[in-house]
Amino acid sequence: MSDWPEDALMQRFSEATSSEGVMVFAEMVDGELLNVGRELMGPGREMADQLGVSLTAMLIHHDVGSAPQDLISLGADKVVVVTDPRLEHFTTLPYTRALSDYLMNVHRPEILLMGATTTGRDLAPRVASRVDAGVTADCTKLSVGPFYHRKTKTVTTHMLEAHRPSFGESKLACIMSNPQQLWAPAMATARPGIFVAPDSDSSRTGEVEDFTPSWSEKDFDVEVIDVRRGGGERVELGHCKIIIAGGIPCGQTGFREIHELSESLKSKGIDAEWAASRAAVDAGYAPSTRQIGQTGQSVRPPIYIAVAISGAPQHMAGMKDSARIISINTDENCTMVQSSDAAIIGDYREVLPSIIEKVQSGFTFGL
Ligand SMILES: Cc1cc2nc3c(=O)[nH]c(=O)nc-3n(C[C@H](O)[C@H](O)[C@H](O)COP(=O)(O)OP(=O)(O)OC[C@H]3O[C@@H](n4cnc5c(N)ncnc54)[C@H](O)[C@@H]3O)c2cc1C
Repeated sequence: MSDWPEDALMQRFSEATSSEGVMVFAEMVDGELLNVGRELMGPGREMADQLGVSLTAMLIHHDVGSAPQDLISLGADKVVVVTDPRLEHFTTLPYTRALSDYLMNVHRPEILLMGATTTGRDLAPRVASRVDAGVTADCTKLSVGPFYHRKTKTVTTHMLEAHRPSFGESKLACIMSNPQQLWAPAMATARPGIFVAPDSDSSRTGEVEDFTPSWSEKDFDVEVIDVRRGGGERVELGHCKIIIAGGIPCGQTGFREIHELSESLKSKGIDAEWAASRAAVDAGYAPSTRQIGQTGQSVRPPIYIAVAISGAPQHMAGMKDSARIISINTDENCTMVQSSDAAIIGDYREVLPSIIEKVQSGFTFGL
């Protein structure tokens, strides 16, 4: 990538696009700041420091409570707040209006990050089309670097390098937005759990700015009458003490037992949850909200129990930092067994029922 001729025209992305700063849209639901917003403050702060610019966070909700201060403690230099009683629940038009109005009329960041949540997946392309930008979705790594455009012989420096799995997830692509128009931010989304939220520092100070978009009555044409959250919602696995994850061989019966094991642990007062490998999710045995790994959630529980999971690098990426790994597998040579602190070599169909029985009679893995 640093291979360009000496006479190449050098330009900084922010100069080419008349933009400056890094911005994170921090999503709120029911008065709570979502973790993905906290997590994005990590790469947001890192890139802002690297570029020598400020980090702004944006909140859009009916009541933001202490979220502005939370974001400042996590690294924001400024928090822009859009509040209105009609913003209690996410609807596309007013959120798009608020964000794009701010971007077009007040502050033009060179990088804009959002969570790849249901809201983020709806909002990001809408905003992108209003400000003439492109979006790289579901990024797993965000950094800045230079790009050489062979046709125009131009090197653009300080550009967003958005890394994401590609080509049926067999490759990792690095996508950079080419600055062709006067202004457009480089936009990227990341799934929850991909980045680790930075440590909060309550002594940090920052500015809080209220912003009132130029609302149109049409923005509020859609009225939310009722909100019902179903089982497809994200399951927070980050704080669990024990996670029992199943692989594809578990099938429906095995996952029923894994669920029973986590419920038995819960009944003994242990914060336990169940999860799955991607192969098991793809086979329909578990929702994607419970997937562990590179393209799922990243977890570090005190105990991670891998049931019939081989230990592919993409799975290990999401759980290798667990304090203790216990595996149940028929193959003693597989990566997961080799990386475990303890392993039971055997068929999960024989092993799981006896563990459930032990837990029901009081065994809690030493927790
Ligand atoms: C870009 C990309 C991103 C990816 N992201 C993820 C991700 O986020 N998360 C993820 O998990 N995967 C991800 N994958 C897929 C990953 O490469 C593997 O295909 C997947 O993790 C394998 O799942 P598994 O361990 O359930 O299945 P397998 O690899 O098939 O392993 C099954 C294991 O079960 C054992 N077994 C079989 N029968 C029994 C039995 N009766 N009792 C006990 N043990 C038994 C076998 O010995 C084996 O070790 C990704 C792949 C790519 C290319």
